[in-house]
Amino acid sequence: MFKAVPVHINFLLVVGVVMAEIKVLIEGYAKQVKGGWIASSTVTLIKSNGKNIIVDPGCNRKKLFEVLKKEKLSVSDIDFVILTHAHADHTLLCGIFDKARVLNAVEIYDNDRQVEYGNFVPDTDVEIIQTPGHCVEHCSVLISTEKGTVVVAGDVFWWVESEKQIVDVEKVDDAHPLETNMVELIKSRKKIIAVAEFIIPGHGKMFKAQKKVCQG
Ligand SMILES: [Zn+2]
Ligand SMILES: [Zn+2]
Repeated sequence: MFKAVPVHINFLLVVGVVMAEIKVLIEGYAKQVKGGWIASSTVTLIKSNGKNIIVDPGCNRKKLFEVLKKEKLSVSDIDFVILTHAHADHTLLCGIFDKARVLNAVEIYDNDRQVEYGNFVPDTDVEIIQTPGHCVEHCSVLISTEKGTVVVAGDVFWWVESEKQIVDVEKVDDAHPLETNMVELIKSRKKIIAVAEFIIPGHGKMFKAQKKVCQG
């Protein structure tokens, strides 16, 4: 267990002749209230090889339009939307991007045309890895940068607003007890920590991965 060290940096890197950029547009939040939750996922923008990619558009419409405007992006400028998993706090707004192809763990949708794909977002260096546990079909997004590998981890890691952001691979995730498989989730957490320098959680602040928690 360790306390996550939040980091507030954007990554600029050169991959061959391609410059890629990763930016957290909205930091995900989750707060339990009477009868339910106030929650929306972290929204991450990746620019790779001239493509604009959104990971998890979330469900806060007002905030999403605000941050896109700030980035000088219209909804039509987004080429791909990656959904780490199907929960509505991550996926609700994916339909606003009228030109985007939508990827989940195994498929790409282009309107009603569905194809399976390999491990990479087409024409980019952005890799998708399978990270089941929070639910069966959960993936994470891996981007190699000069500052190390960044993993956009969806709900493999997440915290409620009132919690201290402590990274514990065995922390029980009981928000969706019928879907969550703790054995798989622990494996996915270790897998991400093993490859990542920085981890962007589904709800909470980006943090630096501490390798020692995944040993033993
Ligand atoms: Zn979530
Ligand atoms: Zn979820």
